[in-house]
Amino acid sequence: MSLSNIRIVLIQTSHPGNIGSAARAMKTMGLSELCLVKPKRFPAPEANVMSSNAEDILDNAIIVDNLQQAIADCHVVIGTSARYERNLRWETFDPRYCGEFVGKALSKNKKVALIFGRERSGLTNEELSMCQHLVHIPTNPDYSSLNVASAVQILSYECRMGAKDIKPIRHELNEEVVSAEDMEGFYQHLETALIEVEFLNPENPRYLMPRLRRMYGRINVTRSELSLLRGMVSAFQGRKFTRRNKES
Ligand code: SAH
Repeated sequence: MSLSNIRIVLIQTSHPGNIGSAARAMKTMGLSELCLVKPKRFPAPEANVMSSNAEDILDNAIIVDNLQQAIADCHVVIGTSARYERNLRWETFDPRYCGEFVGKALSKNKKVALIFGRERSGLTNEELSMCQHLVHIPTNPDYSSLNVASAVQILSYECRMGAKDIKPIRHELNEEVVSAEDMEGFYQHLETALIEVEFLNPENPRYLMPRLRRMYGRINVTRSELSLLRGMVSAFQGRKFTRRNKES
């Protein structure tokens, strides 16, 4: 699967727990390749605890001394930044566009690296200069810095969605929608009931029925929902709902 051509690179992560959480985030999205640049402490029990069964990713993690080594065999290098400055020299994407961009690169058999910075200070200028593009996750401008593993989660998800071999979910309900005539019968029934319970004054109807029509008209009522509505109106009328008056 092409997602295996994505390498997540974490630079000088201070908290081993974050490495474990990042591994878990990657595994949930089908990514597998983790590269650690000079982690402060790794391997570490906190990493294993936080990885929660994504230990295989930790076991296979590559550890290197600098970013250059981490990206040597990659064709596309994308940095991440908690700050967004319009006039930077880098092309900057949001995560959705980044996912599509990565998806296209994967479909051309390219190897992609996504680079994540230090918890406190992010990426250095030198590291940024090794990136071809930047991604910024749009956040509250007054509090823009996500936990590094959360950033890994969001970008892994978007890469998964952008990869061509993942089918998007587009499951729409496929129930029969009722006809205009059926709805007309319901509106008549509703109007009668509203008059009976003295909610609607036929001498002064104002816009009650047109408004209700507008509301129900927006929602594409299905057959089973129409039966429900007719049953409810009958109940409001103080009648028991039976098969016989269902069609009335
Ligand atoms: N004070 C640092 C924050 C680093 S947060 C800074 O301003 O750069 C640690 C890492 O998490 C970042 O280097 C980046 O890789 C990722 N990250 C956090 N928030 C992000 C955001 N809004 N968009 C993209 N990446 C983010």
